[in-house]
Amino acid sequence: MHEAILRRQSLRESAARTYARSLPIVPVRARGLTIEGADGRRYLDCLSGAGTLALGHNHPVVLEAIKKVIDSGAPLHVLDLATPVKDAFTTELFATLPRRFADNARIQFCGPAGTDAVEAAFKLVRGATGRSGLLAFTGAYHGMTEGALAASGGAEDVRVTRLPFPRDYRCPFGVGGERGAELSARWTENLLDDPKAGTAAPAGMILEPVQGEGGVNPAPDSWMRRMRAITEDRSVPLIADEVQTGVGRTGAFWAIEHSGVVPDVMVLSKAIGGSLPLAVIVYRSELDTWQPGAHAGTFRGNQLAMAAGTATLAFVRENRLAERAATLGARMLARLQALATDHPVVGDVRGRGLMIGIELVDPEATAPGDGPEPPPAPALAAAVQQECLRRGLIVELGGRHSTVVRLLPPLTLTDEQATAVVDRLADALAAAERLPHCRITTGSIR
Ligand code: PMP
Repeated sequence: MHEAILRRQSLRESAARTYARSLPIVPVRARGLTIEGADGRRYLDCLSGAGTLALGHNHPVVLEAIKKVIDSGAPLHVLDLATPVKDAFTTELFATLPRRFADNARIQFCGPAGTDAVEAAFKLVRGATGRSGLLAFTGAYHGMTEGALAASGGAEDVRVTRLPFPRDYRCPFGVGGERGAELSARWTENLLDDPKAGTAAPAGMILEPVQGEGGVNPAPDSWMRRMRAITEDRSVPLIADEVQTGVGRTGAFWAIEHSGVVPDVMVLSKAIGGSLPLAVIVYRSELDTWQPGAHAGTFRGNQLAMAAGTATLAFVRENRLAERAATLGARMLARLQALATDHPVVGDVRGRGLMIGIELVDPEATAPGDGPEPPPAPALAAAVQQECLRRGLIVELGGRHSTVVRLLPPLTLTDEQATAVVDRLADALAAAERLPHCRITTGSIR
């Protein structure tokens, strides 16, 4: 069955298939961290639906919440009508948001994907400011629909001005740390204030507090506060894309809480639906200049997702899973950093909470432009992912050239499971290093 399903998938599904290529698994059962394939193999899932599964697969509170709605006879499809299920979701969501933000906020239920909410955020700030340009960052990922894609790092768009996202490793200014972040902020300020910069006043700035797909790049808290001050002083709405960082993932319920920044708009999806599709924007009520019907969509009322989401948000809040993510994440990060001492191919280990990245490099090759960091090693990263899979561990690749091994385990991860994940990863790394095609510089981008 396993082989036949995979064969039919590759014959029938589009060439844009992504995860299915590097993870040839046919999941048939799942619980918590574990997925079982049709071939009977079991895997520890550190991809978690690209960071969606805050509580892992099929958590009892999530299943219970879904069953309760079904058993109650409540309608499953209601467009954007009010229901007790939706009312409970909004109440729980607002209770988790910073008070200063939630006390004067509105919510818009969007189409079901993160990218739908990003589009809604852009439309909102464009309508409210009467401007069209946007500020976005290098390495960003906001989705695959046209506007969201244009704001992502790989795209070009005349309405998007690209700013340097601060990074310690491969810092665009070659200095890293606080100084690199300071230079990034100064560049932003300069662009906005220089009448000859070629940048019209923007409708908004969008940023991820920790870039996910871009290779796990945490923004320094001081830089986040600078971005808030710069945008506030110039009446530019700040949009925090917390699609991936939200619901405890980074060690705070919302990643903006690390810096204390209150944005104008928050874009939320993934974990808020408790593993089912749900996406919203929450924003400062003064921005709500929309006319009735200005932003619509058939699938804005997914009752099962709202119920699953309410249960997830409440469970994370009541069990202090954000704090747990901070502690456990720090421990895993330390162990992985220790690994870097024995493996020169580990160029950098970074992250926040349970959002962790390991950047693989070719230490024997010289960096392009003679920068201090060795060039990335995509062939090695792909081999590590495959060796992890052979050892029953699912990891994701991200970042420039897909050379950052990413870990996004559920926040319910136990200490023992965390140890097993790191052990398997260390083993996979050692095995990949020994592979002939990964030992030499052919795997790197020069
Ligand atoms: N924003 C961020 C930060 C994301 O990580 C993602 C998805 N990885 C999106 C937006 C887009 O979400 P979706 O894939 O649900 O459209």
